[in-house]
Amino acid sequence: MKPDNNKLDVQRFSRYSNAYLIDGTVLIDAGIDPREIAGYDPQLIILTHCHFDHTCAAPEIARMTGARVAIHEEDAKLLDDDYATGSVLFGKRAPEINPDMLLYGGEIFESDNFMLEVIHTPGHTPGGICLYESETRSLFSGDTVFPDGGIGRCDLGGDLSDLIRSIELLTTLNPEVLYPGHLDVTDADVPSQIGLSLANARGLAV
Ligand SMILES: [Zn+2]
Ligand SMILES: [Zn+2]
Repeated sequence: MKPDNNKLDVQRFSRYSNAYLIDGTVLIDAGIDPREIAGYDPQLIILTHCHFDHTCAAPEIARMTGARVAIHEEDAKLLDDDYATGSVLFGKRAPEINPDMLLYGGEIFESDNFMLEVIHTPGHTPGGICLYESETRSLFSGDTVFPDGGIGRCDLGGDLSDLIRSIELLTTLNPEVLYPGHLDVTDADVPSQIGLSLANARGLAV
């Protein structure tokens, strides 16, 4: 089912947070400025969590393209909260987002070229998710883990114990490429980088 080069077609937009367009059809996170996505035609926008810098452009992109918007139901509840969405940090109100689809974890979005699984990874926010494409071993980690042992902050409505459990779950995967919500994409021994994130998160708990 995969093209033989075994590479996922990923276009990255990185002005505010990383947004990734998969195979031209699925946009993971939306960023702040919808003009970044102009000229592309996603059919689905999957938000990794409710924070302003990942979601703000979603309504306008959805209006321009007709794309549906999906988010975990725990974060859907927070979308109109100026504080929980971090909008106040940008001097803004929460953007008005009405999701078309609520996620719970375990959903699979697939096409001929990819099979993206939703993994519920609370901690940075209650309804944070990662997406894993097992064929190409591509992990889209939102703000749960970042390269070089980075972890998402828990002081914007998150929970450190949840984050530790979520990162433990990520260590059971064997990703080849990490596509984080901020910073650069990396393919340098990703399991070790996630192991470092786990150690760092556990270190904060003592
Ligand atoms: Zn965030
Ligand atoms: Zn972020």
